[in-house]
Amino acid sequence: MRTVPGRTDRVVVVGAGLAGLSTALRLRGAGREVTVVERGPGPGGRAGVLTRAGYTLDTGPSVFTAPEVLADAFAAVGDRMADRLTLLPLDTTYRAQFADGSHLDVHADRSRFAAEVEQLCGPGEAAALHRYLDDLAELYRLQLRTFIDRNLDSPLDLLGPELLTLVRRGGFRRLSSHVAGFFADERLRRLFSFQALYAGVSPFRAIAAYAVIAQLDIGAGVWHPVGGIGAVPRAMAAAAADAGVDFRYDTEAVLELSGSRVTAVQLDGGERLPADAVVVTADAPHRLVPGLRGPRRPVYSPSCVALHLGVRSELPGQAHHTISFGAAWEQVFAELTREGRPMSDPSLLVSMPSATDRSLAPDGGQVLSVVAPTPNLDPRSGGNAGLDWDALAPRYRDELLGTLEARGWTGIGEAVEVEELLTPLDWAEQGMAAGTPFALAHTFGQTGPFRPPTLPRSGPENVVLAGSSVQPGVGVPMVVISGRLAAERITGPVRA
Ligand SMILES: Cc1cc2nc3c(=O)[nH]c(=O)nc-3n(C[C@H](O)[C@H](O)[C@H](O)COP(=O)(O)OP(=O)(O)OC[C@H]3O[C@@H](n4cnc5c(N)ncnc54)[C@H](O)[C@@H]3O)c2cc1C
Repeated sequence: MRTVPGRTDRVVVVGAGLAGLSTALRLRGAGREVTVVERGPGPGGRAGVLTRAGYTLDTGPSVFTAPEVLADAFAAVGDRMADRLTLLPLDTTYRAQFADGSHLDVHADRSRFAAEVEQLCGPGEAAALHRYLDDLAELYRLQLRTFIDRNLDSPLDLLGPELLTLVRRGGFRRLSSHVAGFFADERLRRLFSFQALYAGVSPFRAIAAYAVIAQLDIGAGVWHPVGGIGAVPRAMAAAAADAGVDFRYDTEAVLELSGSRVTAVQLDGGERLPADAVVVTADAPHRLVPGLRGPRRPVYSPSCVALHLGVRSELPGQAHHTISFGAAWEQVFAELTREGRPMSDPSLLVSMPSATDRSLAPDGGQVLSVVAPTPNLDPRSGGNAGLDWDALAPRYRDELLGTLEARGWTGIGEAVEVEELLTPLDWAEQGMAAGTPFALAHTFGQTGPFRPPTLPRSGPENVVLAGSSVQPGVGVPMVVISGRLAAERITGPVRA
């Protein structure tokens, strides 16, 4: 593995999102002097929080998976996640709601889940479920050590028995065909392939290896951090500060180059932090790092409209997480990834964390976040720069509320007390390439050794990257892992 040459005693981490916090914990644990510089007023980045009129709205991730990955980051400074954060396992991972009026509750407990599948789709599909979940767990185990939880400098790093096993198990077929090989029921096919969208690709184009994303949520279960997802970065930042990491908020970092190294990070107002190494976790890091080349022909993930709501209604019977599928399916992915059009028949992720955590909403109220995938702003990635989101936004908001109303969230439109709508334009204004918060898509050419590495091959020799634009990829567990991979570029490997 390549590492940063020369001295690395003082490290500045740019960004206090989950990747930056994870990196800081690792580096501090390895004895480095660490300062985190963040332009926002506190930790979290994309995992942001808004508090209004007694409602706590998480504005980023809502599905929290793989807590063991996070626990590992706390352990790096001898801290315990359990002392900082209360994580409640969700009994019902998702409610899958289908356009034919049926629904299926996905339970973390496999026998309860299989019983639900048997009731809705019959015994043959329940038996297929057991086979599929075993297959997923095995695929994940195979990929974690080889492809995900490791720095990859070259495709040759992958050569080995695991790659052959992955090929033999059909890992390079199309995801949609792989899932269809197990399930006859269209509803189950959708349930086990929509996760490809989390990776920025259509299941009709993604390789079957991405089936493992469903291992993270459906296979291994979903948790709720008490206080909302925003409690996660706050807990990480507190553990890091207690371990001696210095935090500088509300200031933009500018890198100061001297020869082949960045020697300092400049803050607003002219202060200068000398640095032996710098870790950059910003989206599109080439915009910040002098001399760093961006990806050559980047393909960005679809974007989303996120509607966050505080409603004065109990919305009885609604689940913590609902995947609400429209009738259209293949068409939806064509619209999002090729045609640059908003979904004509939307499939939505609707989260209502106050169903589990009453601290998030006043009595008689609920908080919801609705994530509607949309095209991004880059026509070369199948997106659309011509959509006028300023004009579209109010209409889109009304349509979303209308769809929710029609799909069972009765009375929601009239109960809204606070709301926040974010569109691709907002993500672009926050500096995210192509107006998407989901970074480079996990196409084959942008995955594993083909995704930008944590130690770039261009730019200053002591700049390391972490976050969703680099290996291993997008989403909470992946960016927390990227923090470990980035730290190891500075400290050298910490495990065999
Ligand atoms: C609406 C939405 C829903 C999502 N849903 C899920 C989900 O359900 N499950 C899941 O796992 N993931 C989800 N994600 C993805 C997940 O949130 C991200 O992958 C992850 O939070 C990215 O973390 P990061 O640290 O890489 O980047 P960021 O959180 O963006 O952190 C980078 C930080 O760097 C700071 N920064 C940038 N430039 C500078 C500079 N020059 N100086 C100082 N600071 C700078 C930024 O302010 C930012 O705080 C979702 C994201 C969004 C937006």
